[in-house]
Amino acid sequence: MNAALVLFSGGQDSTTCLYWALKRFSSVRTLCFRYGQRHSPEVETARKIAEKTRVPFQVLDASIIGQLADSSLTNNAIPMDEEVPDKSCPNTFVPGRNMLLLTFAAVIARAHGIKHLVTGVSQTDFSGYPDCRDTFIRSVNVSLNLSMEEQFVIHTPLMWLNKAQTWQLADELGIFDIIRNETLTCYNGIPGDGCGHCPACKLRNEGLKKYLKTH
Ligand code: ZN
Repeated sequence: MNAALVLFSGGQDSTTCLYWALKRFSSVRTLCFRYGQRHSPEVETARKIAEKTRVPFQVLDASIIGQLADSSLTNNAIPMDEEVPDKSCPNTFVPGRNMLLLTFAAVIARAHGIKHLVTGVSQTDFSGYPDCRDTFIRSVNVSLNLSMEEQFVIHTPLMWLNKAQTWQLADELGIFDIIRNETLTCYNGIPGDGCGHCPACKLRNEGLKKYLKTH
């Protein structure tokens, strides 16, 4: 069966990945995680986009991730780093997040007989998150296959794209306006162009500016 499970948050990257997957796979499901993130309205944003594309939408409670260690993304009492510090991860990093989420996703995919997983991680506009790098994804792919005796394939369509190129991909997929107006990337929970000053907004808006300049 040519089916894929998209790890879906309703943000720019995973929404672009969802439409990318819809072009390539005959059947697509989405999986959205609640893990105590401060931008919790993203779950409702994700639900609306999934409804629009008529794909199954599942929300999994992964709040255990927020209980394991402090991150400014899951603890409102910690002010967010707005820049990437030298030689360390910004405090918006949630340790173990992608390892755990990909593991949860693989188990759910397996239950549905799905072997393709799609995630919007990218190492090009590197935010200092080690679990967004290509080597990590390849490594976890092997480990998931070994752990469940499966042949999962993790797809990362954005891995080598910068944010401007991700906007370009959205445009090529015919979803530029949907991404611009209906997705939620902002760590402060403001949809569309967002708050403008959190790290996620800065990255998204700088990419957009760069893309619009050349098109
Ligand atoms: Zn923001």
